[in-house]
Amino acid sequence: MLIRKLFKAEMAHVVPGAYTQRCNHLHGHSYKFELFLESTQPNDANMVADFKAVKDTGINDFFDSFDHAVMIWKKDTLAPMINQINPERHMVVPFVPTAEMIAKACFVVCQAILETGPKLSGEKDARVSKVIVHETDTGYAEFGEKDLESDRFPSIALDEWMISGGIKTAWKEKTWFERVKAFLKTSAPAS
Ligand SMILES: [Zn+2]
Repeated sequence: MLIRKLFKAEMAHVVPGAYTQRCNHLHGHSYKFELFLESTQPNDANMVADFKAVKDTGINDFFDSFDHAVMIWKKDTLAPMINQINPERHMVVPFVPTAEMIAKACFVVCQAILETGPKLSGEKDARVSKVIVHETDTGYAEFGEKDLESDRFPSIALDEWMISGGIKTAWKEKTWFERVKAFLKTSAPAS
């Protein structure tokens, strides 16, 4: 059984070296994130999982981190100026923030949040099967379980992410980030 939840965020990024010149400089998109969960066993309410419960384990905070934020590669020429560009809401990450890499990051992080968090709705073997990141109305990137074995995209290296204080203070579930970082350090081969 497959269920899907949509998250939205307005976010700016830079894709240095992109073929499309207008992506080379700071610009924004209305992102849509589709999170797909799969399970063979229902919980007591005959659901894969209650999405409200899943969101409360940190997944809502993770997607909310992107909203009205700037995501930038740590080696981008703008990175040293990030506190002037958006002091409140920025994420400096160890990869070029393409839709592809954001999709991989969403998959890895959401799967880890689910795996390490409390099963608030009594979900049994619910897991993230894929994430689709729509950067525009016409283009998306997808990363899912089927990609794990042969994936050659860079590691998302969550322990190297620098997330601004303004984003972190808005998180309702305060433990997910440290929990997931610790988990990925030891266990996720393709993260
Ligand atoms: Zn873009």
